[in-house]
Amino acid sequence: MRKICDLMPMPDLLQTESLLVIQPHPDDLEIGAGATVAKLIRAGKKVSCLTVTDGAAGTYDGSVEGSELAATRKAESETAAKIIGVKDLHWLNFPDGGNLIYDEIRAAITSMIRRLKPESVLVCDPWLPYEVHTDHIRTGLAAAEAAFLANMPRFCPVDIENGLQPHAVKIVAFYYTAYPNTFIDVADTWTLKMQAIDCHVSQFSGGKAEDFKTILQARAEALAAESGAALVEAFKVLSPGHLHIFEDAWLS
Ligand SMILES: [Zn+2]
Repeated sequence: MRKICDLMPMPDLLQTESLLVIQPHPDDLEIGAGATVAKLIRAGKKVSCLTVTDGAAGTYDGSVEGSELAATRKAESETAAKIIGVKDLHWLNFPDGGNLIYDEIRAAITSMIRRLKPESVLVCDPWLPYEVHTDHIRTGLAAAEAAFLANMPRFCPVDIENGLQPHAVKIVAFYYTAYPNTFIDVADTWTLKMQAIDCHVSQFSGGKAEDFKTILQARAEALAAESGAALVEAFKVLSPGHLHIFEDAWLS
């Protein structure tokens, strides 16, 4: 039996003209895809970022107020975005680590897709094995489903009543994936990713940033070993058509 990837062509993320990056928390873009996003921006592509939660639970220090941490993390994210080059930032401000209601975030992401009309959506992979953080699982699944359904006017019809139009996303890509099919040479923009991660001071105190960056670099070097590049970020890149009913899409 021919595989779905042979019957439906796999899209090329680097060829996209516009991209909406969706992150559960204010640092996931940089960690999961920072060097690739910087590369796309330097190639003239239009990039927007949507942050789903307020980041208010991202601390081990109980003396920090959630609202204070959320403000700090938003500022850190804005500084990091300047380094990566993302100028168009959007925030949904759902509670970090709270009871993210799937239908609500799916509707909010659908509206954003219809407003911004990106050719591609890039989000964390909700099918990452052993991922325990439900913010990541629900954000990834809601974004993928929103990208799949945003072109159907009867889906979230309130958008259409409010003057938005259905929009067809062409590429759905996933960072933090265990099933990559796209390996991007990011040697030229790796330093920007490292500098952007350094902006998230609230997340990486006491030398944790250096340890974390060492791990990220070792993985980027390992991914690059087979391709001849120096440093690689890896993604699962599919079309919306691959994201429904095909049992072998995960193998593509
Ligand atoms: Zn996160």
